[in-house]
Amino acid sequence: MSEYILEVENLQKWFPIRRNISQVIKRERNYVKAVDGVSFKIKRGEIFGLIGESGCGKTTTGKLIMKLLEPTGGKMIFDAQDVTYLDTDAVELYKRKVQMVFQDPYASMNPRFRISDVLSEPLLIHKIGDSREDREARAIKALEEVKINPPEEFMERYPHMLSGGQRQRIATARTLILSPSFIVADEPVSMVDLSTRAEILHMMKEVQQSLGLTYLYITHDLSTARYFTDRIAVMYLGKIVEMGPAGELIDNAKHPYTQALIAAVCEPVSGNVNRIKEVPIKGEIPSAANIPHGCRFHTRCLYAKPECWEMEEPMLEEVSGVGHLAACRRWKEISGEKGKVSETA
Ligand code: SF4
Repeated sequence: MSEYILEVENLQKWFPIRRNISQVIKRERNYVKAVDGVSFKIKRGEIFGLIGESGCGKTTTGKLIMKLLEPTGGKMIFDAQDVTYLDTDAVELYKRKVQMVFQDPYASMNPRFRISDVLSEPLLIHKIGDSREDREARAIKALEEVKINPPEEFMERYPHMLSGGQRQRIATARTLILSPSFIVADEPVSMVDLSTRAEILHMMKEVQQSLGLTYLYITHDLSTARYFTDRIAVMYLGKIVEMGPAGELIDNAKHPYTQALIAAVCEPVSGNVNRIKEVPIKGEIPSAANIPHGCRFHTRCLYAKPECWEMEEPMLEEVSGVGHLAACRRWKEISGEKGKVSETA
């Protein structure tokens, strides 16, 4: 059995843009390249973080893995099976193994359903459980796993009767009820009070460890990613620009974009815990319909030189010998210069 549960290779999702008359005549086609050649592997039992600003393609990547979108190109291998393109029956089976925790737990629940109905719904869809009693027993077990106590009492409640933290626990219980092996968690704590975030992430980590699950954690928040994940990949404009073990990547970031994200992490300043420092990069993120030539970050990079936009896009390369990769010419130059100094010393 492979040590990797998920292998993503050169994954692409391009959305066609409506053409004007002259483009139709010239037979030109333009695309928004939301995901533009993403590759990574996730080990069994690992928590892998996908980080970046909004619009970088991280949620689209999650949706491709969840089979909510069809890829334009690339390959996805899950549990040694090619899942890039699946027929309807195969998608249903796949979705029992791969579940998603959404950003807004309230929007993902029918407000007229009691919690017992919310939890029984996926069982009914996937035709699991012999009877109502059986499904309720499974629901209670799932509530116990996410530390909802006493579970019997919560079964009768409606979503509006719960706090944000309790709703996110219920949303997690609903994914667990199908006994998945892989969970895509897309900003699972961004709608939860700051004071409850650590509690929810702690619960998710306990569940992951006790059930041997693998998570893809999608977020813009590097501070929770450092605490919660084993490895992190940083996405910019549809592509991964840096990847490595969580602590190493954050303490020793090599790509100017990652360095800028770290510098912009939330700071509890003067009691205002939501204050976000300005990202120390210039300009706006370019359109994914018009990705800059060469290094796609060069229009915002403080260290950009002509070769950054004139030459081919830099590839991800090992920068520290511990599985830490970065796609930046500057780092290669700096490490090359260091190497020369040590050779002559
Ligand atoms: Fe900046 Fe050049 Fe590195 Fe791109 S390759 S991140 S433009 S220094």
